Amino acid sequence: MQVTETLSQGLKREFKVVIPASDLAQRLDSQLAEMKEKVRINGFRPGKVPTAHLRRVYGRSVMAEVLQTAINEANRKIVEDNNLKLALEPKIDFPTDQAEVEAALAVSHLPTDKMTVFFNPMMLNTSGKLVLIDTGNGPNPSGAVGQLMSNMNAAGVEAKAVDMVVISHFHGDHINGLRLADSSLAFPNAEVKVPAAEWAFWMNDENMAKAPDAMKGAFANVRKAFDKMGDRLTQYEMDKDVAPGLTPFATHGHTPGHTSFALQSGKDRLIIQSDVTNNPALFLRNPGWHVMYDMNPQQAEATRRAFFDRAAADKTLIAGFHYPFPSLGYVEKDGANNFRLVPATWQTKI
Ligand SMILES: [Zn+2]
Repeated sequence: MQVTETLSQGLKREFKVVIPASDLAQRLDSQLAEMKEKVRINGFRPGKVPTAHLRRVYGRSVMAEVLQTAINEANRKIVEDNNLKLALEPKIDFPTDQAEVEAALAVSHLPTDKMTVFFNPMMLNTSGKLVLIDTGNGPNPSGAVGQLMSNMNAAGVEAKAVDMVVISHFHGDHINGLRLADSSLAFPNAEVKVPAAEWAFWMNDENMAKAPDAMKGAFANVRKAFDKMGDRLTQYEMDKDVAPGLTPFATHGHTPGHTSFALQSGKDRLIIQSDVTNNPALFLRNPGWHVMYDMNPQQAEATRRAFFDRAAADKTLIAGFHYPFPSLGYVEKDGANNFRLVPATWQTKI
Protein backbone atom coordinates (compact mmCIF):
# COMPACT_ATOMS: atom_id res chain seq x y z
CA MET A 1 0.00 0.00 0.00
CA GLN A 2 1.28 3.49 -0.82
CA VAL A 3 0.24 6.64 0.99
CA THR A 4 0.99 9.94 -0.69
CA GLU A 5 0.76 13.10 1.31
CA THR A 6 0.25 16.43 -0.46
CA LEU A 7 -0.28 19.92 0.80
CA SER A 8 -3.03 21.75 -1.02
CA GLN A 9 -3.08 25.53 -1.52
CA GLY A 10 -5.14 26.02 1.63
CA LEU A 11 -2.43 24.11 3.53
CA LYS A 12 -4.84 21.31 4.15
CA ARG A 13 -3.21 17.95 4.32
CA GLU A 14 -4.56 15.51 1.78
CA PHE A 15 -3.79 11.83 1.74
CA LYS A 16 -4.13 9.63 -1.30
CA VAL A 17 -4.17 5.92 -0.59
CA VAL A 18 -3.21 3.63 -3.43
CA ILE A 19 -3.58 -0.08 -3.06
CA PRO A 20 -1.74 -1.91 -5.82
CA ALA A 21 -3.82 -4.57 -7.61
CA SER A 22 -1.50 -7.32 -6.36
CA ASP A 23 -2.15 -6.33 -2.72
CA LEU A 24 -5.88 -6.28 -3.35
CA ALA A 25 -5.77 -9.75 -4.90
CA GLN A 26 -3.81 -11.01 -1.91
CA ARG A 27 -6.39 -9.57 0.45
CA LEU A 28 -9.26 -11.20 -1.46
CA ASP A 29 -7.34 -14.48 -1.49
CA SER A 30 -6.94 -14.45 2.27
CA GLN A 31 -10.64 -13.65 2.71
CA LEU A 32 -11.46 -16.55 0.43
CA ALA A 33 -9.12 -18.86 2.34
CA GLU A 34 -10.84 -17.83 5.57
CA MET A 35 -14.20 -18.59 3.99
CA LYS A 36 -13.00 -21.98 2.75
CA GLU A 37 -11.78 -22.76 6.24
CA LYS A 38 -15.27 -22.02 7.53
CA VAL A 39 -16.67 -24.32 4.85
CA ARG A 40 -14.32 -27.04 6.01
CA ILE A 41 -15.37 -26.64 9.62
CA ASN A 42 -19.08 -26.13 9.20
CA GLY A 43 -19.75 -27.74 5.87
CA PHE A 44 -21.57 -24.56 4.87
CA ARG A 45 -20.67 -21.13 3.64
CA PRO A 46 -21.85 -18.25 5.83
CA GLY A 47 -25.60 -18.08 5.28
CA LYS A 48 -27.17 -15.67 2.85
CA VAL A 49 -30.39 -15.59 0.90
CA PRO A 50 -29.99 -17.82 -2.16
CA THR A 51 -29.90 -16.07 -5.52
CA ALA A 52 -32.49 -16.86 -8.18
CA HIS A 53 -30.15 -19.47 -9.66
CA LEU A 54 -29.45 -21.13 -6.33
CA ARG A 55 -33.17 -21.35 -5.63
CA ARG A 56 -33.37 -23.98 -8.32
CA VAL A 57 -30.59 -26.15 -6.95
CA TYR A 58 -30.98 -26.16 -3.19
CA GLY A 59 -33.49 -25.15 -0.57
CA ARG A 60 -32.84 -24.70 3.12
CA SER A 61 -34.98 -24.67 6.18
CA VAL A 62 -34.25 -24.77 9.85
CA MET A 63 -35.86 -27.01 12.43
CA ALA A 64 -34.78 -26.08 15.94
CA GLU A 65 -31.11 -27.09 15.92
CA VAL A 66 -31.03 -28.79 12.51
CA LEU A 67 -30.20 -27.08 9.24
CA GLN A 68 -31.88 -29.05 6.52
CA THR A 69 -30.95 -28.65 2.85
CA ALA A 70 -32.81 -30.23 -0.06
CA ILE A 71 -30.45 -30.67 -3.00
CA ASN A 72 -32.02 -30.87 -6.45
CA GLU A 73 -30.26 -33.74 -8.20
CA ALA A 74 -32.36 -33.66 -11.40
CA ASN A 75 -35.83 -33.29 -12.84
CA ARG A 76 -36.18 -36.01 -15.42
CA LYS A 77 -38.99 -36.60 -17.89
CA ILE A 78 -39.30 -40.34 -17.75
CA VAL A 79 -42.29 -40.71 -20.03
CA GLU A 80 -43.17 -38.76 -23.11
CA ASP A 81 -45.00 -39.32 -26.39
CA ASN A 82 -48.40 -39.92 -24.88
CA ASN A 83 -47.46 -43.25 -23.39
CA LEU A 84 -47.93 -42.55 -19.72
CA LYS A 85 -49.16 -46.01 -18.87
CA LEU A 86 -45.62 -47.30 -19.36
CA ALA A 87 -44.68 -45.52 -16.16
CA LEU A 88 -47.27 -47.37 -14.19
CA GLU A 89 -47.18 -50.85 -12.78
CA PRO A 90 -48.30 -53.12 -15.63
CA LYS A 91 -48.41 -56.45 -13.80
CA ILE A 92 -51.35 -56.03 -11.46
CA ASP A 93 -55.00 -55.45 -12.03
CA PHE A 94 -54.74 -51.85 -13.04
CA PRO A 95 -57.94 -49.97 -13.73
CA THR A 96 -56.40 -46.74 -14.95
CA ASP A 97 -56.50 -45.77 -18.57
CA GLN A 98 -54.58 -43.04 -20.34
CA ALA A 99 -57.44 -40.55 -19.99
CA GLU A 100 -57.49 -40.97 -16.20
CA VAL A 101 -53.74 -40.36 -16.00
CA GLU A 102 -54.02 -37.27 -18.20
CA ALA A 103 -56.91 -35.97 -16.09
CA ALA A 104 -54.85 -36.40 -12.90
CA LEU A 105 -52.01 -34.40 -14.42
CA ALA A 106 -54.42 -31.70 -15.62
CA VAL A 107 -55.84 -31.35 -12.09
CA SER A 108 -52.32 -30.40 -10.94
CA HIS A 109 -51.85 -28.02 -13.89
CA LEU A 110 -49.11 -30.21 -15.37
CA PRO A 111 -48.54 -31.10 -19.03
CA THR A 112 -50.68 -34.12 -19.84
CA ASP A 113 -48.31 -35.74 -22.32
CA LYS A 114 -45.33 -36.33 -20.03
CA MET A 115 -44.47 -37.30 -16.50
CA THR A 116 -41.61 -35.64 -14.72
CA VAL A 117 -39.80 -37.30 -11.84
CA PHE A 118 -37.88 -35.15 -9.38
CA PHE A 119 -34.85 -36.35 -7.42
CA ASN A 120 -34.05 -34.55 -4.15
CA PRO A 121 -31.42 -35.93 -1.78
CA MET A 122 -31.62 -34.37 1.68
CA MET A 123 -28.74 -33.00 3.70
CA LEU A 124 -28.87 -32.42 7.45
CA ASN A 125 -26.48 -30.54 9.66
CA THR A 126 -27.36 -32.06 13.01
CA SER A 127 -25.23 -31.80 16.16
CA GLY A 128 -22.25 -30.82 14.04
CA LYS A 129 -22.61 -33.88 11.80
CA LEU A 130 -23.21 -33.43 8.10
CA VAL A 131 -25.57 -36.21 7.02
CA LEU A 132 -26.67 -36.91 3.45
CA ILE A 133 -29.79 -39.03 2.97
CA ASP A 134 -29.66 -40.82 -0.40
CA THR A 135 -27.34 -39.83 -3.22
CA GLY A 136 -29.30 -39.56 -6.48
CA ASN A 137 -28.60 -41.15 -9.84
CA GLY A 138 -24.85 -40.61 -9.88
CA PRO A 139 -22.76 -39.14 -12.68
CA ASN A 140 -24.29 -39.34 -16.11
CA PRO A 141 -22.57 -38.20 -19.32
CA SER A 142 -25.79 -36.70 -20.69
CA GLY A 143 -26.08 -34.38 -17.68
CA ALA A 144 -29.80 -35.19 -17.54
CA VAL A 145 -29.34 -36.53 -14.03
CA GLY A 146 -26.46 -36.60 -11.57
CA GLN A 147 -26.40 -32.93 -10.59
CA LEU A 148 -25.83 -33.69 -6.90
CA MET A 149 -22.15 -32.71 -6.82
CA SER A 150 -22.49 -29.46 -8.74
CA ASN A 151 -25.60 -28.45 -6.81
CA MET A 152 -23.99 -29.32 -3.47
CA ASN A 153 -21.13 -27.12 -4.55
CA ALA A 154 -23.56 -24.29 -5.30
CA ALA A 155 -24.98 -24.77 -1.81
CA GLY A 156 -21.47 -24.38 -0.37
CA VAL A 157 -21.11 -27.99 0.74
CA GLU A 158 -17.96 -29.94 0.00
CA ALA A 159 -18.23 -33.67 -0.63
CA LYS A 160 -15.32 -34.35 1.70
CA ALA A 161 -17.14 -32.53 4.53
CA VAL A 162 -19.98 -35.10 4.51
CA ASP A 163 -19.66 -37.24 7.68
CA MET A 164 -22.35 -39.79 6.97
CA VAL A 165 -24.45 -41.07 4.08
CA VAL A 166 -27.69 -42.78 5.08
CA ILE A 167 -29.41 -44.86 2.38
CA SER A 168 -33.19 -45.46 2.38
CA HIS A 169 -33.27 -48.29 -0.16
CA PHE A 170 -31.15 -49.75 -2.94
CA HIS A 171 -32.72 -48.44 -6.15
CA GLY A 172 -30.20 -46.82 -8.50
CA ASP A 173 -31.61 -43.29 -8.13
CA HIS A 174 -30.75 -43.46 -4.40
CA ILE A 175 -27.38 -45.26 -4.36
CA ASN A 176 -25.57 -44.51 -7.63
CA GLY A 177 -24.35 -41.15 -6.37
CA LEU A 178 -22.11 -42.98 -3.88
CA ARG A 179 -19.55 -43.23 -6.70
CA LEU A 180 -17.93 -40.74 -9.07
CA ALA A 181 -17.54 -41.43 -12.79
CA ASP A 182 -14.21 -43.22 -12.16
CA SER A 183 -16.04 -45.34 -9.53
CA SER A 184 -14.07 -43.81 -6.64
CA LEU A 185 -16.04 -42.84 -3.53
CA ALA A 186 -17.96 -39.60 -3.95
CA PHE A 187 -17.87 -38.92 -0.18
CA PRO A 188 -14.38 -40.01 0.85
CA ASN A 189 -14.74 -39.21 4.56
CA ALA A 190 -18.27 -40.47 5.10
CA GLU A 191 -19.46 -43.57 6.84
CA VAL A 192 -22.29 -45.26 4.92
CA LYS A 193 -25.34 -46.65 6.70
CA VAL A 194 -27.79 -49.00 4.99
CA PRO A 195 -30.98 -50.73 6.17
CA ALA A 196 -30.21 -54.29 7.30
CA ALA A 197 -33.41 -55.68 5.72
CA GLU A 198 -32.52 -54.12 2.37
CA TRP A 199 -28.98 -55.51 2.56
CA ALA A 200 -30.27 -58.99 3.38
CA PHE A 201 -32.51 -59.03 0.31
CA TRP A 202 -30.20 -57.56 -2.34
CA MET A 203 -26.95 -59.22 -1.25
CA ASN A 204 -28.54 -62.67 -1.19
CA ASP A 205 -27.20 -64.66 -4.17
CA GLU A 206 -30.28 -66.88 -4.29
CA ASN A 207 -32.54 -63.84 -4.65
CA MET A 208 -30.31 -62.63 -7.47
CA ALA A 209 -30.35 -66.00 -9.24
CA LYS A 210 -34.13 -66.31 -9.17
CA ALA A 211 -34.80 -62.65 -10.07
CA PRO A 212 -36.36 -62.02 -13.48
CA ASP A 213 -33.81 -61.00 -16.13
CA ALA A 214 -35.09 -57.42 -16.06
CA MET A 215 -34.04 -57.16 -12.40
CA LYS A 216 -30.63 -58.82 -12.60
CA GLY A 217 -29.05 -55.49 -13.54
CA ALA A 218 -30.43 -53.91 -10.36
CA PHE A 219 -28.77 -56.63 -8.25
CA ALA A 220 -25.46 -56.13 -10.07
CA ASN A 221 -25.78 -52.37 -9.57
CA VAL A 222 -26.19 -52.78 -5.81
CA ARG A 223 -23.05 -54.91 -5.63
CA LYS A 224 -21.12 -52.31 -7.65
CA ALA A 225 -22.29 -49.37 -5.53
CA PHE A 226 -21.27 -50.98 -2.21
CA ASP A 227 -18.17 -52.80 -3.49
CA LYS A 228 -15.14 -52.79 -1.15
CA MET A 229 -16.56 -50.32 1.32
CA GLY A 230 -15.14 -52.33 4.21
CA ASP A 231 -15.57 -50.91 7.68
CA ARG A 232 -17.04 -47.63 6.50
CA LEU A 233 -20.30 -49.43 5.70
CA THR A 234 -22.62 -50.52 8.52
CA GLN A 235 -26.17 -51.84 8.54
CA TYR A 236 -28.80 -50.15 10.67
CA GLU A 237 -31.96 -51.52 12.28
CA MET A 238 -35.39 -49.91 12.35
CA ASP A 239 -36.40 -47.65 15.27
CA LYS A 240 -32.84 -47.03 16.46
CA ASP A 241 -31.27 -43.61 15.77
CA VAL A 242 -28.74 -43.58 12.92
CA ALA A 243 -27.69 -39.96 13.51
CA PRO A 244 -28.61 -37.39 16.20
CA GLY A 245 -32.42 -37.03 16.04
CA LEU A 246 -32.78 -39.24 12.95
CA THR A 247 -34.79 -42.43 13.50
CA PRO A 248 -35.45 -44.93 10.71
CA PHE A 249 -38.76 -46.77 10.50
CA ALA A 250 -40.06 -49.50 8.19
CA THR A 251 -42.13 -48.56 5.15
CA HIS A 252 -41.55 -51.79 3.22
CA GLY A 253 -43.20 -52.59 -0.10
CA HIS A 254 -41.56 -50.24 -2.59
CA THR A 255 -38.53 -52.46 -1.87
CA PRO A 256 -38.24 -55.26 0.72
CA GLY A 257 -36.31 -53.07 3.19
CA HIS A 258 -37.56 -49.63 2.14
CA THR A 259 -37.07 -47.15 4.98
CA SER A 260 -38.44 -43.73 5.97
CA PHE A 261 -37.06 -41.47 8.73
CA ALA A 262 -38.40 -39.33 11.55
CA LEU A 263 -36.26 -36.29 12.25
CA GLN A 264 -36.85 -34.68 15.63
CA SER A 265 -35.25 -31.43 16.74
CA GLY A 266 -36.65 -29.65 19.77
CA LYS A 267 -40.39 -29.52 19.18
CA ASP A 268 -39.97 -29.62 15.39
CA ARG A 269 -40.57 -32.83 13.52
CA LEU A 270 -40.05 -33.83 9.91
CA ILE A 271 -40.87 -37.16 8.32
CA ILE A 272 -38.62 -38.08 5.43
CA GLN A 273 -40.78 -40.47 3.44
CA SER A 274 -38.19 -41.60 0.84
CA ASP A 275 -40.25 -43.42 -1.86
CA VAL A 276 -43.50 -44.20 -0.05
CA THR A 277 -44.99 -42.43 -3.04
CA ASN A 278 -43.48 -41.08 -6.25
CA ASN A 279 -44.69 -37.95 -8.10
CA PRO A 280 -47.51 -36.75 -5.81
CA ALA A 281 -49.61 -35.37 -8.67
CA LEU A 282 -50.24 -38.97 -9.73
CA PHE A 283 -49.44 -41.35 -6.92
CA LEU A 284 -50.45 -39.37 -3.85
CA ARG A 285 -53.71 -38.24 -5.41
CA ASN A 286 -54.25 -41.86 -6.44
CA PRO A 287 -52.53 -44.08 -3.87
CA GLY A 288 -53.95 -47.17 -5.61
CA TRP A 289 -51.84 -46.45 -8.69
CA HIS A 290 -48.37 -47.95 -8.74
CA VAL A 291 -45.21 -46.59 -10.20
CA MET A 292 -43.46 -49.41 -12.03
CA TYR A 293 -40.71 -49.49 -9.39
CA ASP A 294 -42.96 -50.69 -6.54
CA MET A 295 -41.48 -54.18 -6.09
CA ASN A 296 -44.38 -55.50 -4.03
CA PRO A 297 -47.30 -53.37 -5.28
CA GLN A 298 -49.89 -54.61 -2.77
CA GLN A 299 -47.61 -54.11 0.22
CA ALA A 300 -46.45 -50.72 -1.15
CA GLU A 301 -50.06 -49.56 -1.45
CA ALA A 302 -50.99 -50.72 2.06
CA THR A 303 -47.91 -48.96 3.44
CA ARG A 304 -48.73 -45.82 1.45
CA ARG A 305 -52.33 -45.59 2.65
CA ALA A 306 -51.40 -46.18 6.30
CA PHE A 307 -48.51 -43.70 6.09
CA PHE A 308 -50.55 -40.88 4.57
CA ASP A 309 -53.62 -41.48 6.76
CA ARG A 310 -51.31 -40.88 9.71
CA ALA A 311 -49.47 -37.93 8.09
CA ALA A 312 -52.76 -36.20 7.26
CA ALA A 313 -54.18 -36.79 10.75
CA ASP A 314 -51.00 -35.58 12.49
CA LYS A 315 -50.45 -32.65 10.05
CA THR A 316 -46.79 -33.67 9.85
CA LEU A 317 -44.31 -31.92 7.58
CA ILE A 318 -43.17 -34.47 5.00
CA ALA A 319 -40.10 -34.53 2.76
CA GLY A 320 -40.42 -36.66 -0.37
CA PHE A 321 -37.43 -37.66 -2.48
CA HIS A 322 -39.62 -37.50 -5.61
CA TYR A 323 -41.74 -34.47 -4.60
CA PRO A 324 -41.25 -31.29 -6.64
CA PHE A 325 -38.19 -29.35 -5.45
CA PRO A 326 -37.60 -28.38 -2.64
CA SER A 327 -39.58 -31.46 -1.69
CA LEU A 328 -41.35 -30.39 1.50
CA GLY A 329 -45.06 -30.32 2.12
CA TYR A 330 -48.12 -31.34 4.09
CA VAL A 331 -50.50 -34.09 3.08
CA GLU A 332 -54.27 -33.66 3.27
CA LYS A 333 -57.12 -36.06 2.71
CA ASP A 334 -58.90 -35.47 -0.59
CA GLY A 335 -62.12 -37.46 -0.39
CA ALA A 336 -62.36 -40.82 1.30
CA ASN A 337 -59.42 -42.60 -0.35
CA ASN A 338 -57.17 -40.01 -1.91
CA PHE A 339 -54.69 -37.39 -0.76
CA ARG A 340 -53.11 -34.20 -1.99
CA LEU A 341 -49.84 -32.40 -1.26
CA VAL A 342 -49.82 -28.81 0.03
CA PRO A 343 -46.25 -27.56 -0.54
CA ALA A 344 -44.61 -25.96 2.52
CA THR A 345 -44.02 -22.23 2.30
CA TRP A 346 -40.55 -21.44 1.03
CA GLN A 347 -38.25 -20.01 3.69
CA THR A 348 -36.37 -17.21 1.99
CA LYS A 349 -34.39 -16.31 5.07
CA ILE A 350 -32.84 -18.67 7.57
ZN1 LIG B 1 -36.62 -43.39 -6.05
